[in-house]
Amino acid sequence: MKPRLITIDGPVAAGKSSVGSILAQRLGYSFFDTGIMYRAFTWKALESHITPKDEPKLCHLAKTIKFDFVSHRDGYLFPLINGEDISAKLFDPKVERQVSLISQLAVIRQTMVTEQRKLAKRGAIVMAGRDIGTVVLPEAELKIFLVATIEKRAQRRYKEQSAQKGKSVNYNDILADLAKRDYTDIHRTISPLKPAADAITVDTDKLSLEQVVDRIYALAVG
Ligand code: C5P
Repeated sequence: MKPRLITIDGPVAAGKSSVGSILAQRLGYSFFDTGIMYRAFTWKALESHITPKDEPKLCHLAKTIKFDFVSHRDGYLFPLINGEDISAKLFDPKVERQVSLISQLAVIRQTMVTEQRKLAKRGAIVMAGRDIGTVVLPEAELKIFLVATIEKRAQRRYKEQSAQKGKSVNYNDILADLAKRDYTDIHRTISPLKPAADAITVDTDKLSLEQVVDRIYALAVG
């Protein structure tokens, strides 16, 4: 029996989305990257001129925001915020800088986790993030924790961003940003980034994308 729910957690740029989306396609499942919910929320906060320190306003936003999920290409699920598709804004440098700070707040995490659990009720889903195996879906039958050295992850991000036309990128800036986000995600009080006790850790440093997917697929189909 294939697992109904598969979780993939790990630090920024560990390959969760690339691996998760291909894996989901091979299994005929949906794929959902929870990072984009935190990014979308952060964009909404920035657009409303709310700073990461303004907890009352962030709480109000979290309580009033409405998420819908639409199926994009190949089973990739995408959130609409108050009916609006803000996918073009999710990787804005302002969002990159603020998202980990905003994601630390309990009320925001509660809103996100509630939505993510609703989504998982549909079953046959691969869900990626930081706390999916530990907090959101501890009942998932297969839990993966992806790791890679920070240098390897920064190289991947650098390659991705350099490929985008007209974008000037600096490897050392990317490395510094990843280190900062890792620190905030690992050391926050609520739902810190860590593997679930029953997660299988896959080190992707020396593996190609296909090899990582093959390994997890084999675990899923038994
Ligand atoms: O995965 P991605 O880099 O898009 O996530 C952006 C940020 O959202 C992370 O650095 C983390 O602070 C937050 N996040 C989280 N919990 C998740 C997914 C993402 O706190 N499940």
